[in-house]
Amino acid sequence: RTVYVNGEYLPETEATVSIFDRGFLMADGVYEVTSVLDGKLIDFEGHAARLERSLNELDMAAACTKDELLEIHRELVARNGIVEGMVYLQITRGSDGDRDFVFPDPETTKPTIVLFTQNKPGLADNPAAKKGAKIISIEDIRWGRRDIKTVQLLYPSMGKMMAKKAGADDAWLVEDGYVTEGTSNNAYFVKNGKIVTRPLSTDILHGITRKAVLRMAAEAQMEVEERLFTIDEAKEADEAFTTSASAFVMPVVEIDGVALGDGTPGPIAKRLREIYLDESLKAAI
Ligand code: PMP
Repeated sequence: RTVYVNGEYLPETEATVSIFDRGFLMADGVYEVTSVLDGKLIDFEGHAARLERSLNELDMAAACTKDELLEIHRELVARNGIVEGMVYLQITRGSDGDRDFVFPDPETTKPTIVLFTQNKPGLADNPAAKKGAKIISIEDIRWGRRDIKTVQLLYPSMGKMMAKKAGADDAWLVEDGYVTEGTSNNAYFVKNGKIVTRPLSTDILHGITRKAVLRMAAEAQMEVEERLFTIDEAKEADEAFTTSASAFVMPVVEIDGVALGDGTPGPIAKRLREIYLDESLKAAI
């Protein structure tokens, strides 16, 4: 694979980053994952806008312009022959060659920017989406700025491991009795035709897919309500699903061992997945 590091395209075995990099030492960095379908980028604009917001919230400098970012994404997709897959982008605060809690001087410390691709044939026609996901609920003990897409992913990673151990596919996080989101996705349930999801705040990541799917649901005359909900409400739902840039709309068929509806992907989740894939592909660049 060819990867991109700080202005250079290199074979992955030759790409290096300092051991003092604050991304490595302190998880002081942000990232984005953009899907590739048909060799084209899905919702690049949305990811670029959120990246800019994440950087601003952390007082981090932009490593390059949006146009340069698009060019790097396209170049990596082309060089690595990605038809279906992902482009991963990470920007960290870099380092001044020492370890200190205080941010290094932005005048003299350049951010570190890394991009690489992942080849994922069968991303759109994913068999997991036909089966639907089994979810467990776990306590949300993450920090309070989940709207910033930082590389601090240890707890989400532990959550996935807890799910795997329990024979499930993923976990939904619960705080003060209410579902926040999934380990790496936004969470929804459907009851009597109405889609319910948690409103945007600093408690959850402002999903790029969430925004697109809620717009498409409204356009398809589906009813949507943004409000807090409990895991018990979700367990009593007719269906449920998650959204993310890498899994699109993923039906949920079981929560904490309780099957939803007839235990197969629900009609609204299936329809939204179809609409999302269809429209995103048309708008891909
Ligand atoms: N919430 C969390 C915690 C996530 O990690 C992700 C995936 N990055 C999402 C939601 C979904 O966001 P998006 O649709 O932008 O991928």
